[in-house]
Amino acid sequence: GAGLRLRGISHRYGLTEVLQHIDFAMMPGESVALVGPSGCGKSTLMHVIAGLLVPDQGKVENDFLSLGCMFQQPRLLPWRAVLDNIALGLRARGVSFEARRRLAAALAARMELSVNDYDKYPHELSGGMQSRVALARALAVDPDLLLLDEPFSALDVGLRAEMHRLVRGYIEDRHCSMLMITHDMMEAVRLADRIVMMATPGRIVHVQRLDCAWAQR
Ligand code: ADP
Ligand code: ADP
Repeated sequence: GAGLRLRGISHRYGLTEVLQHIDFAMMPGESVALVGPSGCGKSTLMHVIAGLLVPDQGKVENDFLSLGCMFQQPRLLPWRAVLDNIALGLRARGVSFEARRRLAAALAARMELSVNDYDKYPHELSGGMQSRVALARALAVDPDLLLLDEPFSALDVGLRAEMHRLVRGYIEDRHCSMLMITHDMMEAVRLADRIVMMATPGRIVHVQRLDCAWAQR
């Protein structure tokens, strides 16, 4: 079926057990926040889902076709301007220059960047603007699963709320699924349908479903 299913995922780094028999599933269109103390294995689990790490044990069934990723640091290429940074993943997919430019500009507009900024370089941008560019770059591959690893933790409360509005608008509009690691409970409540809590070492200890509509949060 579509979506994602992990069965009995276990993994060790050397002698350290970082994931213990994780069972986890996501339906298409679902948004999940992954929370838990530092070092409990959240990033490792996300790497397994992204296909970047093959776990020692267990089975990964991932039917999402296109993954968009965003990390704690924007990780923009310093020598490329805004639109070129947004379009990076499209270049690799063989999209023509004109089409890349058009899609990148549409996404930049959607992220509420100003046309004056499209040809600026990352060092000329504020943290909030860099975050918008990094999100646009993740969206440029038209993801059906968005993987976010503490994406807005460096931003102040106001900018974070702006980013939440942009992410929420996008995932609802495109019926995109989202898995986000966060330490910010407000962020989890705003963006997720379900909060999955992990504990050290590498176990899921609680799942909280959020039933109320976004507008009521
Ligand atoms: P979290 O994202 O919850 O902070 P991580 O998945 O990053 O946790 O890390 C889980 C545990 O695995 C931690 O103890 C961390 O130090 C360890 N770890 C993470 N990556 C590696 C690695 N490449 N090699 C060895 N140990 C690692
Ligand atoms: P239309 O029905 O007008 O052809 P599209 O489905 O192409 O519309 O795009 C509608 C909106 O969705 C665009 O304005 C753009 O912001 C966004 N969008 C289109 N394609 C993508 C994509 N590959 N990745 C992210 N957003 C996209």
